[in-house]
Amino acid sequence: MIRVVVNGALGRMGSQTVSAVGAADDMELVAVVDRRLDHDTPFCPDGECPVVGFSDVAAAVEATSPDVMVDFTSPSTVEDNLRAVLPFGVHCVVGTTGLSEAKLEELVRFAPSGTALFVAPNFTTGAVLMMQFSRLAARYFPDAEVIEFHHDGKADAPSGTALRTAHLISTARDEPSAAPGRETELAGYEGARGALVDDVFVHSVRTAGHVASQEVVFGSLGQTLTIRHDSFDRASYMPGVLLAVREAPSHPGLTIGLENLMPLS
Ligand code: NAD
Repeated sequence: MIRVVVNGALGRMGSQTVSAVGAADDMELVAVVDRRLDHDTPFCPDGECPVVGFSDVAAAVEATSPDVMVDFTSPSTVEDNLRAVLPFGVHCVVGTTGLSEAKLEELVRFAPSGTALFVAPNFTTGAVLMMQFSRLAARYFPDAEVIEFHHDGKADAPSGTALRTAHLISTARDEPSAAPGRETELAGYEGARGALVDDVFVHSVRTAGHVASQEVVFGSLGQTLTIRHDSFDRASYMPGVLLAVREAPSHPGLTIGLENLMPLS
């Protein structure tokens, strides 16, 4: 059995993860953590109290010695969470966005060797494929823009998926885009062309009604190609989260992206 702690357990993603881990035959949910929980109290999601709830992840790890900690908290706290947990040698599966690759490389050094720090900007298989298809298309379509759509409760913009997609496109394309840039924005309307991420324009839409969607629009002489992915329900993230809990421990060190755990050829 893989012993799992879920951090951010009362949130939109954390509560789904609590249910998914609880239902997995090969996993044991040993503690849940959320800063909105009272410290060291029974956690009773369905009227039953199978696990202890904590307000602080370090205390939960010390008390329960998990194999894996899953983090779906917030961009402002995830760094502190990892600083607290990695020195215990607990493998970390992180969905929380907002940490740069350089910061993650710094954080993994806090862990004893053999410990895994696995981070996925997006745990849906469809989004991973969208990013891989975009990487392929970028070689043939240097003009590319990312439009991402999320619910109005999202704390960060652009999304981690959009940042990762832009990075993959910019490293895959052979030549820079010749599309007009910020110099074409009218005075008083700065930002009209979006945020420039690794030389790729990214546009973030935030409205009620969306869960998470992204379009990558490619253009070339006389043709366009649009690759789109939609998550309609947070359940779509759970197969990827469980895959990461199972597989991350055999990938010590820093790994970024679910594609590293999914056979793609
Ligand atoms: P949310 O606000 O619904 O939930 C976050 C939870 O974390 C809250 O219950 C909050 O109380 C708790 N929390 C915050 N700081 C904490 C701390 N230091 N210790 C313990 N608990 C803490 O947010 P959400 O929609 O579930 O998203 C969480 C994160 O996951 C965001 O960064 C979001 O962008 C990201 N996300 C990633 C994916 C992915 O596939 N990688 C998918 C969706 C969301």
